[in-house]
Amino acid sequence: MHCVVCDKTIGKSGYKIQCRKCDGWAHLNCTNIAKDDIHDKKKIDWHCKQCRDSSTSALEEELEEEASLREKLDRCIKRRQSQIYEHSPSTQDMFKKLLKKIEGLEEAMSFNNEMVEGMRSSLDELRKENKSIKTKYEKLKIEVQELRQEVTVLKEKNAATDIEADLNSRKRNIIISGVIDKN
Ligand SMILES: [Zn+2]
Ligand SMILES: [Zn+2]
Repeated sequence: MHCVVCDKTIGKSGYKIQCRKCDGWAHLNCTNIAKDDIHDKKKIDWHCKQCRDSSTSALEEELEEEASLREKLDRCIKRRQSQIYEHSPSTQDMFKKLLKKIEGLEEAMSFNNEMVEGMRSSLDELRKENKSIKTKYEKLKIEVQELRQEVTVLKEKNAATDIEADLNSRKRNIIISGVIDKN
């Protein structure tokens, strides 16, 4: 068995320590671990230099990857920002157009309101006219009724005069018939 630090043989006697990662052995004297610490298992979390280096390089790789990811993210964010900046003028244009549309709609609505008001007032006038026409009609109805009554009265009078005339003619007829008898 060779020490992973000094590459010399490790004898059966003497303190030694095992690398947690590669399971290689080392003289305790070749490490910076104290003899007293060897009984405390928490304190002997030892890694040989090679394993420490590889883990460091792994960490470095991770860091590099992270950095490149961060760069990518930065580029992404910048691109998005520029896109937003490029789009903002058109967005402003759109807002302006929308505002104009809204103004136009408001104008149209106020015009409509005026129209509706005008229609309402003319409708009110029509209603008034209709009312006056109705009252006129009622008056006419009454007048017509009065006229009818007058007519019936006149008819009755006429009938009475007719009867009188008839009676008179009959009287004459009697006289005339008397004359005819003589013939
Ligand atoms: Zn050694
Ligand atoms: Zn090792």
